Amino acid sequence: MTNILVTGGAGYIGSHACKALKLAGYTPVTYDNLITGWQDAVKFGPFEQGDLLDRARLDEVFDKYKPAAVMHFAALSQVGEAMSEPGKYWTNNVTGSLNLIEATVAAGCENFVFSSTCATYGEHDNVVLDEDTPQLPLNAYGASKRAIEDILRDFDAAHVLNHVIFRYFNVAGADPDGEVGEFHRPETHLIPLMLDAIDGKRDGLTVFGTDYDTPDGTCIRDYVHVCDLVDAHVLGLNWLEHGKGSRVFNLGTGTGFSVMEVIGHSKAVTNRDVPYSIGPRRAGDCTKLVSGSVRAGAELGWTPKSSTLETMIADAWRWHQNGHYEK
Ligand code: UDP
Repeated sequence: MTNILVTGGAGYIGSHACKALKLAGYTPVTYDNLITGWQDAVKFGPFEQGDLLDRARLDEVFDKYKPAAVMHFAALSQVGEAMSEPGKYWTNNVTGSLNLIEATVAAGCENFVFSSTCATYGEHDNVVLDEDTPQLPLNAYGASKRAIEDILRDFDAAHVLNHVIFRYFNVAGADPDGEVGEFHRPETHLIPLMLDAIDGKRDGLTVFGTDYDTPDGTCIRDYVHVCDLVDAHVLGLNWLEHGKGSRVFNLGTGTGFSVMEVIGHSKAVTNRDVPYSIGPRRAGDCTKLVSGSVRAGAELGWTPKSSTLETMIADAWRWHQNGHYEK
């Protein structure tokens, strides 16, 4: 079986990717430092604990498994934290990724799939966000991901590092079988926080700002189901295996929902009220991030199957009620 090195395989998206890879016939080898990931989430292949900053450990793992490709999910990904502690983002995300990319090239591995983000685009009024939109990130999280994209391009030019870059919009939902799900400690994302508020695990949700230039004043995001997202990664891997070369793809549905609309849908799905209050804007948030690209559909044949807000919230709610991980 073909080994794929999955950094961050113990995290939310990485664990779902491991499941999709296993179902597609690959062996996902998780490399994770377990700072934000969970060993319980590693269910679909071998686990190697290690940090991206530890080059010797990375070399050891490349030597042991000789992966055909790397899927790089491991990253710090909170906008708020990135604003207050940018150094953590530049060290962990950028220096860590540089280390991983150097280890990949040194091991002779030529295929790399990278988790980037729509946060690299930043604020663009009335512009359709496609892969050619200028990247003007508003926060250190987006800036760190943009820098890694640049590193990949430079390494591809100098060596051979075929890479697929996926710029994710907002990932939500959980494995419908309940084997893995979203479990961040602390949690900062809208949908899991809202579900916590619904069942009394926190006092209430704070809506970050109602004075944005949107119909209801709250920020608009394009939500994509985690299972659809990881399906795109398997298609991206096939793309690289077929020698189609380096390419950037947005992964979003093209439909945006405001924070208040997400709250409204949650009430409909769970049949419970969402206790919330209005707070100030969160530093670093863009008004609207919605994909305007059809490239992943046209070139990879990617079709999101589960990315309705109802399905994402229903799958997240089922996981929320039944699933969790322990350290
Ligand atoms: N949000 C909110 N309250 C929260 C968490 C998030 O109003 O407690 C808003 C946030 O301002 C953004 C949207 O929900 O407009 C999605 O935020 P999230 O952190 O889930 O993802 P991000 O867009 O930062 O990647």
